[in-house]
Amino acid sequence: MPTSTETTKYIFVTGGVTSSLGKGIISASLAKLLQARGYTVTIQKLDPYINIDPGTLNPYEHGECYVTEDGAETDLDLGHYERFLNTPTSQANNVTTGKIYQSVIEKERRGDYLGETVQVIPHITDEIKHRIQLLGENGQFDFVITEIGGTVGDIESLPYIEAIRQLKWDMGVRSLVIHLTLIPYLAAARELKTKPTQHSVKTMLEYGVQPDILVCRTERPLNDNIKSKIALFCNVDVSSVIESIDTSSIYKVPLLMRQEKLDIVVLKKMKLPVTCMPEMKKWQAFIEKLESPTHTIEIGLVGKYAELVDSYKSIIESLIHAGTENDCKVDLRLIHSEQIDENNVEEKLKGLKGVIVAPGFGDRGIDGKILSITYVRENQIPFFGICLGMQCAVIEFARNVLSLHHAHSTEMDPDTTDPVIDIMEEQKKIHTKGGTMRLGSYPCNLADNSKVAAIYGSTTIAERHRHRFEFNNAYLEAFQQHGMLATGINPDSELVEIVELQGHPWFVGVQFHPEYKSTVAAPHPLFIDFVRAALSGKA
Ligand code: GLN
Repeated sequence: MPTSTETTKYIFVTGGVTSSLGKGIISASLAKLLQARGYTVTIQKLDPYINIDPGTLNPYEHGECYVTEDGAETDLDLGHYERFLNTPTSQANNVTTGKIYQSVIEKERRGDYLGETVQVIPHITDEIKHRIQLLGENGQFDFVITEIGGTVGDIESLPYIEAIRQLKWDMGVRSLVIHLTLIPYLAAARELKTKPTQHSVKTMLEYGVQPDILVCRTERPLNDNIKSKIALFCNVDVSSVIESIDTSSIYKVPLLMRQEKLDIVVLKKMKLPVTCMPEMKKWQAFIEKLESPTHTIEIGLVGKYAELVDSYKSIIESLIHAGTENDCKVDLRLIHSEQIDENNVEEKLKGLKGVIVAPGFGDRGIDGKILSITYVRENQIPFFGICLGMQCAVIEFARNVLSLHHAHSTEMDPDTTDPVIDIMEEQKKIHTKGGTMRLGSYPCNLADNSKVAAIYGSTTIAERHRHRFEFNNAYLEAFQQHGMLATGINPDSELVEIVELQGHPWFVGVQFHPEYKSTVAAPHPLFIDFVRAALSGKA
């Protein structure tokens, strides 16, 4: 299919009524259906907050910070985009108000606008339009789907809606707006209510944007009457009122959207041919396996944000992919590391077939993580340490096997006598926090005959990073002599990226984040093998 800037189509996804309706999943599902029809698609998220990126945001505020190949710290929705599409995103796929203002202000200081008053319209809106169109520039994509964060009516999202209004005017049928709304069910009246949707569309109209398609999130099916009513009040055809019913798995949404013909409505509106049905056989096979697993196992995830699943989104999704690959449902026990102590560690971890110790920053909950690792190391329970989880495994081993009782990371204890985890050399001179960690994809060489080389089926890999601290190579020999092997090394910097424990059924710590690369089409080999090991230890 020929593509150029002129033929790239732009789809905007806005949200109304409430937040958390799943714009990211709807965007990813539509993208999946278009991709399954042979189109190239990318998805972009515009976030209306002032932070330059979510890298500096507390996971309590915004969930996990997702990292792209090129080292962008992004919104967790980008993880969904990659997991659904199996194509990498980049810096350009996540833009915040902070980034928009930063570049406008830099241009102003350079003198690019000399003489002009710099204003929201046109300067900020032009920058937004530029960032949206950037992704379509080289004709790389047939479709660019842009999700606007927040809810229509918020002060923060106004410039974005205005930018969409202008783009729609310029592009005609090359663009369209999908508005995701909520149709609440009132139990007392036993009725689905359309009024919030009507008001939300009215707000869009006040800003000059007529949504082309309404995707209506609902807990009950929408009958024809409701659909007609919504169509009548919101100026759309009945076929453009799409039901998005609650479902047990986000991975079922593309199939639900196909059933509702969302992709067909989009293609027709954009005057594109509707020749065949999307090729979703593999996706369907994944759903079938997901729905009827033969086995069930319980795996523990020890972290300090255990009450918030969004903080560990990519790990949780990777376990779903890996479980499905193993014909197994993974029941996740989220364990708050701060609540683990010497007296209850056994009780907290009892019955688990495998334990993951999560990534993280700072001192809080560290002791619980280390205690958990002692327990799984001594009891031969499969263990997977990710980033800080790997660092904790190193500290635990130093203290309890090498008898370096005060070993620590200099992140938690800058004055430790045995800094087995220490700040990376190039990080020492960095004092600003935003975007300054070791970020993005780095190569890693795996030792021949190591467990990880067998798992990956290769001795050269590349994985994504997000950290400042590292294994201290001054201790490497002592670790190796006692059975903790460095089996993954960065070829350029010699940093230790993977440790494995000899004589343990499955004990692997990785300095990188494999969870960022697991997708439905390509579940991550380390997660697959970890679940396999956990399953094989099943009583
Ligand atoms: N806090 C650790 C570091 O900066 C680990 C980071 C992480 O787990 N992502 O090295």
